[in-house]
Amino acid sequence: MLQYKFSKWALMGVFFLITPSFGQEFDPISVPLSPRNANYTMDVKLNPDNKIMTGSTTLEWVNITEHGAPDLRFHLYYNAWRNNKSSFFKSVRYDSFNSARYRDDEWAYSDVKSMRITYEDGREVDLTPQLTFIQPDDGNPDDRTVLQAPLAEPVESGSKVTVAIEWEAKVPRAFARTGAIGDYYFVAQWFPKIGVFEANGTWKSHQFIQTEFYADYGNYDVSMTVPTGWVVGATGQERSQQDNGDGTTTHRYHQEDVHDFVWTANPYAQVYTARFEDPSLPSVDMRLLLMPDHLHHKDRYFEATRAALKYYGTWFGAYPYGHITVVDPAYQSRSGGMEYPTMFTGGTRWLSPPEMLSPEGVTVHEAGHQFWYGIIGNDEFEDAWMDEGFNTYSTTRTMEAAYPERVLTKRYFERFIPVVFSSVKRGASRTAGADGFGGFYSNLKRDAMATQSWQQGPNAYGLNSYTKPGLMLRTLENYLGWETFQKVMSTYFDRWKFKHPRPRDFFAVVNEVSGQDMSWYFDQIYFSSNVFDYGVGSVKSKAVEKPKGYLEKDDGLVFENLSKKDTKDGDDKKQFLSTVFVNRWGEGVFPVEVQITFTDGSQATEQWLGRERWTRYDYTRSSRIERVVIDPDHKLTLDINYTNNSWIKESAAPLAAGKWAAKWMIWVQSVMEYLSFFA
Ligand SMILES: [Zn+2]
Repeated sequence: MLQYKFSKWALMGVFFLITPSFGQEFDPISVPLSPRNANYTMDVKLNPDNKIMTGSTTLEWVNITEHGAPDLRFHLYYNAWRNNKSSFFKSVRYDSFNSARYRDDEWAYSDVKSMRITYEDGREVDLTPQLTFIQPDDGNPDDRTVLQAPLAEPVESGSKVTVAIEWEAKVPRAFARTGAIGDYYFVAQWFPKIGVFEANGTWKSHQFIQTEFYADYGNYDVSMTVPTGWVVGATGQERSQQDNGDGTTTHRYHQEDVHDFVWTANPYAQVYTARFEDPSLPSVDMRLLLMPDHLHHKDRYFEATRAALKYYGTWFGAYPYGHITVVDPAYQSRSGGMEYPTMFTGGTRWLSPPEMLSPEGVTVHEAGHQFWYGIIGNDEFEDAWMDEGFNTYSTTRTMEAAYPERVLTKRYFERFIPVVFSSVKRGASRTAGADGFGGFYSNLKRDAMATQSWQQGPNAYGLNSYTKPGLMLRTLENYLGWETFQKVMSTYFDRWKFKHPRPRDFFAVVNEVSGQDMSWYFDQIYFSSNVFDYGVGSVKSKAVEKPKGYLEKDDGLVFENLSKKDTKDGDDKKQFLSTVFVNRWGEGVFPVEVQITFTDGSQATEQWLGRERWTRYDYTRSSRIERVVIDPDHKLTLDINYTNNSWIKESAAPLAAGKWAAKWMIWVQSVMEYLSFFA
C-alpha cells in the first residue's frame, strides 16, 4: 500500500514539474525523490535592529492519506520561549530553569497574522478568525507551540490546497540551537510549519516540549532579506542574489525533497568550498562557513565531512543532494552540533590539536544525520532513537574507520586548554559498552526505549535516544555479523528513504534480511527496560581424588581409607577437576560465549544460551583453570557490568585486573563524551 502511494505521488511530482501553473520553479531534470506533499515558498525579512522576522509563506499541501483532513495544524516553535508558562519550560529537562536569570533578549515569539486557504476548485477561505492553539500532549492552556486551523470543509483525500500565511517572529538570543548572538544568526525552526497528517487520518503535531523534528517532504524556495554584505548559508543552494538598494540584499535558496529548511546569516564567516569525490558514489560540493578564529580547522572540517559521506554512503546508501553546507558556529552561539537538511553545524575551539578529534567527531555525527534524520524521516518527537541512536552507532563506526588511532584527551580551565595524553591509547569508541551504567540504580532501568521520546523521564531521554540504541545496533551487528547487518541497514535505508518509518518497520527489515525472528531481542531491549549483566561466579580446581570409602570390588565390599596426602597424590598422571559457575544477574537474556583457559594454555569454549539464572561447567584436565571470561569478544555491549565478566586465578590477577580497570574507565569516558557533546 505504501509502495503504491509513493508511486502515485511520485507521478504527481512529475505532474508538478510539467505544469508551470503551480507557481514553483523546479529543475528541468528534477525527478522527485520524495512524495513532495508539503512545498513551501517563503519570503522572510530580517530586521537586525529589533531581531524581528517578517514572513509570508505559500504552502502547497497535498493530503496523501485516504482520509479527509478536518483541520490543519502548524508548529510555532519559537513560542516555546514566549514566556515561562510554556510546556518547554515546564518539561523535565528545564524544570530547574530559573526565569529570573533569563535575559530580556532571550524571549521570543511566533505569531501568525493571517491564514487563507485555497481549495483545488479555486474557493478561498480566510482561516484567521478560527485559528486556535491546542495542546494535544499536556493540555497546558498556556502553551502556544501548536496552532490549529479548523476547516469548515475538509481537505479531501488526494487533493491539494494552497495556504497563504503572513507571520512575524522575534528571534531569541541564541538558545536551544536557534537564535542570534550579536550579528550571528542561526535560524532554525523559524517558520509556521505544518504537522504530519498520518495514514490513519490523524495529525502528528506534538507540542515543542523535548523533541522537535517530524515533517513531510517537499520543495522549499526561500528568499531571505538580510543586511547587504552578510554571508548567508541555508538548506539547498543559492539561486539568486538581489541588492535591494536600501542596505539589504535578498538571497533566494532552493531545495527539493527535504523536510525542513534552516538558514544562517552573519557578517563574519569566511566561505570555502571543496568537493567530495569517490569512484562509487555521487560527487558532493561542500561549502564551509568558517568563523575567522577557526580558519586553521578548515581542512579538518572538510575531511570529516568526506569521511561521513564516504562511509555512510558506502554502508547505507548514497547522499543524493549533490551539495552540503557546513557551518562552523560562532562562540557561545549554542548552535553547534545540529543537523538540518543539506546543512549542519559543527563546532570546535580555537585550540584543538588533531588528537582531540574536534571538530571531527561532531562533524561526522552531524553530517551523518543527513542520512538518519534527513533522508530517513523518522518521527523525532516520538522515536528520537531512530535518528540519534542510528547515528550514534554509525558515527562511532565511521570514526573507527576514518580515525583509528585514538588517545586520551582532556580539557582543563573551563574546557579552554586541551591536553593530549598521547601515551594512553584509547580503544576505538565503537567497543564502548553499557558498562558505565552498572549497578542496582542503573539509569537504563528508568524508561523503556519504547516510551515516546518527549515523555522520557529525567536522564532517560539521552540514554534511550543515543547510548542504548547505539549499543543495541552494535550488539545486533555482533550477533548477526557485519555482512548481514550491513544488508539490514542498506535495505532499511533504501526502503524507507524519504518516508516516515516507525520502529516496527526497522524490526521487520531486521527479521526479513537476517532470516531470523529477532523479536526476543527487541522485546527485551526496546519494549522493556531490562538490563543485561552476566558474571562469573565461583571457579574451583582441585586434584582428582582416588576412590575412598566403601567400594565394590571383585572380592566384595572393601573399605579404603587413604590419608589426605595419598588421596591427592595417588595418580601418576595428575588430573584436576574444575568447576565453573556463571551467573545471569540481569533480567535480560542473551546467548554468550564462556571461554575457559587452563594453566597449560589449553582452552574450552562453551556456548551458553544464558536463559537460566546460572549454569555450571565441569572439566577434568591435567591442569587447573587460570582464567574464565564470559563474552570475550564483548559482543553484548549492553552488559552493564563487564568487570564481573572475567575471573583470573589469584597469582595472575594483579596485572590483568589493572588492565581491565583502565579499559573500563576509557569505555565509560568515551560513551559519556558522545552523550554530552552531540545532538
Ligand atoms: Zn545527533
